[in-house]
Amino acid sequence: MSKTVDIIVPCFNEHEVLGLFYERTKGVVEKIEGYDFSFIFVDDGSKDATLADLQALAKDHPEVKYLSFSRNFGKEAAIYAGLSHSKADFVILMDGDLQHPPEMIPEFVKGIEEGYDSCVAKRSKRAGENPLRAPFSNAFFNVNNKISTVKLEKGAVDFRMVTRRVVDTVLKMSEKERFSKGLFAWAGFDTKWIDFVSEKRAAGKTKWSFFGLGLYAFKGLTSFSRAPLVFVTVLGFIISIVAFIYIIITLVQTLIYGIDVPGYVTTLCAVLFLGGIIEISIGILGGYIGHIYMETKNRPMYVLKTTNIDREETSEK
Ligand code: UDP
Ligand code: MG
Repeated sequence: MSKTVDIIVPCFNEHEVLGLFYERTKGVVEKIEGYDFSFIFVDDGSKDATLADLQALAKDHPEVKYLSFSRNFGKEAAIYAGLSHSKADFVILMDGDLQHPPEMIPEFVKGIEEGYDSCVAKRSKRAGENPLRAPFSNAFFNVNNKISTVKLEKGAVDFRMVTRRVVDTVLKMSEKERFSKGLFAWAGFDTKWIDFVSEKRAAGKTKWSFFGLGLYAFKGLTSFSRAPLVFVTVLGFIISIVAFIYIIITLVQTLIYGIDVPGYVTTLCAVLFLGGIIEISIGILGGYIGHIYMETKNRPMYVLKTTNIDREETSEK
């Protein structure tokens, strides 16, 4: 019997490329023997005709499944929804804008057959992106890998094929603020990295703002490591020690030479510097409290508006 593979595709306002995406991907996977491919498209509250496109596709093609959210919940929620609605032996996760070339899927399948539990696309070059994005992205990976026990592969993208046991492990992590790259890395198992040159979006435009990406990176760092907390604590200690030495020197000077009135610049520098450090520390602390806040609310990660998947068909509880 053929093994089953679900291709999970988060879609937010992808009306312009969906048809193209389906045709090209379908063309690749129907040539792969021994596997039954299905699609789970997750419409993440699109404002354009994405849902109508999906419904039209599903009507003509029985292997097309879709989930549609009541509003935009974000790509992470869409990935989670897709994973929890899949029962297949293998799952492929890919973007719907054709930046992840479907022609790589046969290589993924080969990797899985070699015994890997995860095959992940790794970008060797970026095309069609804001040139400012690459250095910031590199910095993120460098910082993360220095401070966190969950190491992330530089250039790895959310384009992967994984086995059922990886999916089950990732689904067991019930946190609401999700960072899939980290979750998959945390799960472990043998991973094969496959290089590719990221393509230009086939149509439409990126949904990420620079600020949005920065926030996502901060969330990622603070959800997998407590190192930033250690960092501010150590910084606090260092500053306290320096301050203590400075106090002693000033006291001794005052005792010997009397009160020295000028000192405006020193005072101002110290106040501003410490003020800055305190703000940063509160910010980092706040980041963690924010995680606790979101997790304790325990809200659902997404709300379904409509789907063509039967509940019994899925592994969702
Ligand atoms: N996406 C989503 N919800 C969002 C933002 C994006 O489901 O809130 C989807 C989007 O449709 C695409 C994938 O996530 O399939 C990657 O998004 P995008 O291409 O905008 O990001 P980039 O490639 O620039 O990182
Ligand atoms: Mg994209």
